This record gives sequence, C-alpha cells and structure tokens, in this order.
Amino acid sequence: MRTLVRGGTVVNATGARAADVLVEDERVIAVVAPGAALVGNFADGATVIDASGRLVLPGAVDVHTHMELPFGGTHASDTFETGTKAAAWGGTTTIVDFAVQRKGEPMRAGLDAWLAKAEGNCAIDYGFHMIVSDVNEQTCKEMDALVGEGITSFKLFMAYPGVFYSTDGEILRAMQQARGSGATIMMHAENGIAIDVLVAEALARGETAPRFHGTTRPNLLEAEATARAVALAKLTGAPLYIVHLSTTGALEAVREARSQGQNAFAETCPQYLFLSSDDLAREGFEGAKYVCSPPLRPREHQANLWRGLRTDDLSVVSTDHCPFCFKEQKELGRGDFSKIPNGLPGVEHRVDLTYQGVLAGELTLPRWVEVNSATPARMFGLYPKKGVIAPGSDADIVIYDPAAKQVISATTHHMNVDYSAYEGKELTGRVRSVLSRGRLVIDDGRYVGQKGQGQFLARGQNQYLI
Ligand SMILES: [Zn+2]
Repeated sequence: MRTLVRGGTVVNATGARAADVLVEDERVIAVVAPGAALVGNFADGATVIDASGRLVLPGAVDVHTHMELPFGGTHASDTFETGTKAAAWGGTTTIVDFAVQRKGEPMRAGLDAWLAKAEGNCAIDYGFHMIVSDVNEQTCKEMDALVGEGITSFKLFMAYPGVFYSTDGEILRAMQQARGSGATIMMHAENGIAIDVLVAEALARGETAPRFHGTTRPNLLEAEATARAVALAKLTGAPLYIVHLSTTGALEAVREARSQGQNAFAETCPQYLFLSSDDLAREGFEGAKYVCSPPLRPREHQANLWRGLRTDDLSVVSTDHCPFCFKEQKELGRGDFSKIPNGLPGVEHRVDLTYQGVLAGELTLPRWVEVNSATPARMFGLYPKKGVIAPGSDADIVIYDPAAKQVISATTHHMNVDYSAYEGKELTGRVRSVLSRGRLVIDDGRYVGQKGQGQFLARGQNQYLI
C-alpha cells in the first residue's frame, strides 16, 4: 500500500519546507524535494494526495483526554469511539487518555478496565496514563510494573478531596517511586482542601451560580499548589508535569523550576488561551457550559500563557477533553455550582484554535507543530514513531488548508456533546485529510476511518529528562 502526498509544505518542529512525502504501508519511507526522480517511479500504483497550497503536518498528539470518564455521578459524553473520531476530524491521530485506579482497587484492575473500553473502538492510536487515587506500598510496586507495560506517567491530584485527592505525604511517596523508575508524575495542582472551604462558604451565602465555581478556585490556590508540587518533585528528583496550567502565578513557579534545571514541565489548554472568566459569568445557567477545573481565568492571563508557549515554560497544548452535555449533565448543578460536572469538550479543535495563534503572530508554524505534536510525543515516550514526518515514522499525516474558513458550532462538530464552548467562533484554517498509520481516516473532509483501527501504544519514557 503506497501513498504519495505531493506538492505541499511539510512542517515539522524543526522547520517548514516544500517536500513530497512517500508512504509505504504504515510508515513514511522518504521526505524528498518536490518532484524528485524517485517520486515519479513511486507514484505508479500509489494513491496520490495533492497537497498543493496546503500544509503537511505530523498528526497531532493530545496527551490529555478523558473519554467516558466517570465524574460527579455521570460520565463524560464521548466514548472512545465518538471521541477518537472527533479527534481525527481535528487532525489529532494519537490520544493519551487516563485510566483510573479507584480507591481500594489495584491499578491493574483500572488499567484493564480502560484497555477494555478502548479496545476495538478507536479510530486513531491511543495510550494511557494512570490516575493514582490510592498511594500505598502495593500501588507503588504496581507503578514500576506498569512502566514495563508502557504506562510511563502517573497522575496525582492535589484537588478533589474524597475522590482523587492525595495528601502531600502520598504525593511524596509516589514521587520517590517515580524517581526510581523514571516515570513522569503528572499533577493536577489546585489546593483542593482550601477550595472546599471556600465552596462551602459560598454556598452558605447563597452563591450558587456557575460563576462562583471560579471565585472559589482562585489563582493563588493554583499557584500555591504548583509551587508545592515543584518543591516535592525537587526534593525527590521525580520528573514533574503540571497539567492544564491556567494562571500566571503557576507559570512563574514552573519557570523558576526550569531555570534551575529541574525536570519540571507544563501544558496549557485552548480554553485557557481563548476563553475567560467572562464566559463562566454568562447569564443564567449558561456559565455551566464553561465549568472546568482549574476554572477559566480573567483575560489578562492569556498573554502570559502565549508567552509561556514561546519560551517553552509551557511545552505542550493538550485539551483536557472531558465533555458533558448541557442537558441533564451540566444541569445536575442547577442551584448548586459544585454539582456541575467539571470539564469542557475540546478534542476536535485544538489544532485549529492554536493555528489562530500562528495567524496572530503568537507562535511560528514549527512551534505550532511542536506544541501540538512533537513535544507531547517526546514528553510521553512516543517519538519519533509519532510527532514528526520523517523516514521510519508512522504515517500519521494531516493535510491542512491554511486559508479555509470555518465557524465552530455544535450543529457541525463531531464530538458527542450538545453544545460548543466556541459556538459561532470564526476560524481560518481547516483539516482536509488525515492519514493514521498510512490509512486515510479523513478524506477531503469526509470520515472514511473505521472503529478499531486505532492501536494501543506502549510508551517509553519522557525524552526530555536532564
Ligand atoms: Zn484532566
């Protein structure tokens, strides 16, 4: 099976150039000057994709999704089937989702349950991080065993007491274990114990609207938790990755750690770059559509997050895709914001939204590819199989039209959720075609993939450790 992607501009994290891409079976076999002699022979019997006027990108890698996640008495509304299809529509060819170890259960049981949910259902390739809800001697041993099976990152929570929350002592213990195996500790850094006090006080005052989700989770409690996570990681020597960083104060804690040579990294998400606390404060119950944690912040943080992406203090853009329908799911929190399931849909629009940053001069084209594809692949042990268009890499390729116009809407998106956080937003740039391991999944704007085509990815270690 041969495919020739001809006449486009290939953009990798290292730069952009006019090139033809030769694909045989599941892999890229050559990236050559346009029309090189080799191309003529190869074209015979190959499927030819005309990419003239288009960008040719390595498939995007979203290292933070929550398909089917049980949360707050309900489930995230995208299944592995619907969520990975939507991802493909948006140019994402790999997700790394979160398997959940429940309190009192072995990690193994959690991983097996999530492997079973994904198996045979995914349109694109997938891997797993492990959420650790219960740190004890048994689970610490299991962490080492899971690393050998390609689960090389473990997520802990300083938020959500009584659910996923770990004490500082438990975090320290898990980090000691990660130090030994080289696994990366991912951290949800918000001070959940303090937040719960503020939430109870707000509700007692009758402050029940969605916007109080934001006021009870102030910037300072993310900055404080981030600094604490950095300190615990420094003490233990564990690699640390702060998930969904949303504020200037938290960014400063990460920057300080990085300037001292610590293995500390962070991601942000499109919702923190494009949406704000104004959305959370929309009329009536509309704000519920924007409830996620950390909460959307005042607009003035956005410029700092873009700057962090340029300086590499923020290394990755992921989505934290965790959709809940407005009807019946977000509505669980009418009259009590603390009952609104936390999470936003986003897996479909990360590449397009961050491309607006390229158009606005916030990111260069190669940096755009780097934060969406190359760095997440390297950070989570998938590079160079994923994250680059180069000989030997998987043929995960996105043909991107940089001039196309589109308007985001729940009526046209492919995620299984009844609203869009970006309803009516006009964008320039759009995915035209997507190859996943050499097979067309999106063909000039039509879905031609199959569920079950996506394979489980056993991941190696973080490739940035110093
Ligand atoms: Zn998350």
